[in-house]
Amino acid sequence: MVLAQLGGSISRAIQQMSNATIIDEKVLNECLNEITRALLQSDIQFKLVRDMQTNIKKIVNLEDLAAGHNKRKIIQQAIFNELCKILDPGKPAFTPKKGKTSVVMFVGLQGSGKTTTCTKYAYYHQKKGWKPALVCADTFRAGAFDQLKQNATKAKIPFYGSYMESDPVKIAVEGVERFKKENCDLIIVDTSGRHKQEAALFEEMRQVSEATKPDLVIFVMDSSIGQAAFDQAQAFKQSVAVGAVIVTKMDGHAKGGGALSAVAATKSPVIFIGTGEHMDEFEVFDVKPFVSRLLGMGDWSGFMDKIHEVVPMDQQPELLQKLSEGNFTLRIMYEQFQNILKMGPIGQVFSMLPGFSSELMPKELDSSNPKLMNESRMMRIARGSGRHIREVMEMMEEYKRLAKIWSKMKGLKIPKKGEMSALSRNMNA
Ligand code: GDP
Repeated sequence: MVLAQLGGSISRAIQQMSNATIIDEKVLNECLNEITRALLQSDIQFKLVRDMQTNIKKIVNLEDLAAGHNKRKIIQQAIFNELCKILDPGKPAFTPKKGKTSVVMFVGLQGSGKTTTCTKYAYYHQKKGWKPALVCADTFRAGAFDQLKQNATKAKIPFYGSYMESDPVKIAVEGVERFKKENCDLIIVDTSGRHKQEAALFEEMRQVSEATKPDLVIFVMDSSIGQAAFDQAQAFKQSVAVGAVIVTKMDGHAKGGGALSAVAATKSPVIFIGTGEHMDEFEVFDVKPFVSRLLGMGDWSGFMDKIHEVVPMDQQPELLQKLSEGNFTLRIMYEQFQNILKMGPIGQVFSMLPGFSSELMPKELDSSNPKLMNESRMMRIARGSGRHIREVMEMMEEYKRLAKIWSKMKGLKIPKKGEMSALSRNMNA
């Protein structure tokens, strides 16, 4: 079960429970069994799921809840907290500081997406004003250095490696020294992977780690590995001091849950997820917003961060004001999609959406009343854009869905950029 489906199943289970006239032991058990089934189908480790169920039952003591208590809300909150507990090891990962040199070493099996992720990680920081550098200490896989070199060149990130030298420790040390001299603040060391866990891989990793003394070791894991995730993560943790996890290929049909339970194995947090092969298909991973989204509770802070990232700064105050007044119009949706178009590949998907052209009139674009878009107007737009009426209707459905989300935000204080995390904490509290 992919994670989006998992979220849907959990939300449905909670909804079904809410529909019951009385929430008693039987109804609660049915809801929890449904959630357990969904989590297991997503490859989350059995023990974690069982503990979660026991904990929720302990917290939600129906007999002690006086009438009038919103049981649904209490149960939903308990489920939210327990899911967060699975994903949150309780201590944050080491965070490199801009301007101060940090060495970050990447480990993982071959094919997990390690080399790609090294560049994504470097590129992410470079965009935020860091001075990253890449060192290829993977002398095992033929072509590894070329791949890193190609990625690094594309992103204009300095790199170091060798076609001749076969000792990964030597390359790693030379690379780290060189970039320290060049005052790079984020030196990323890519190490060799193997097809499976084996003694030689772990020994090599250990030696590179000992020689370069990384401030942080990041374990890269492919989200499709399922139940094997727990053991694999633990094996790596036993050889090097894994401090954080990055889960890749979350865009595919992978179940994802297994890799997420790797957190429990390494006792280290997931800090980013990979969502595609492209350099910027890489997202910061935050437990609470992630679980919020999973349970269909919305992710306000993530959305605001996205707006800050995508929308030109000079348009923001006006836009945020309109949104906080609950004024979500087709023009806003159009402009947002236009901004997303600028971001790259995802734009290709949106460019296929019908009706986002001159076919819409100013009155239609600026109205926040979907009733204005009657059948004859939709027919006109379909004809003008050469699209099927069904597609225009789908666009209106999407608009109504987004408008409904925004109507819930009405009256919310508009956060400034630095206030995001505080707001997120409040929303999720
Ligand atoms: P390594 O052997 O661990 O260094 O793995 P690579 O970085 O060479 O990646 C293996 C394959 O996975 C490549 O084809 C990458 O483009 C692909 N890949 C890496 N990360 C992602 C991701 O987040 N999503 C998708 N769809 N593909 C990815």
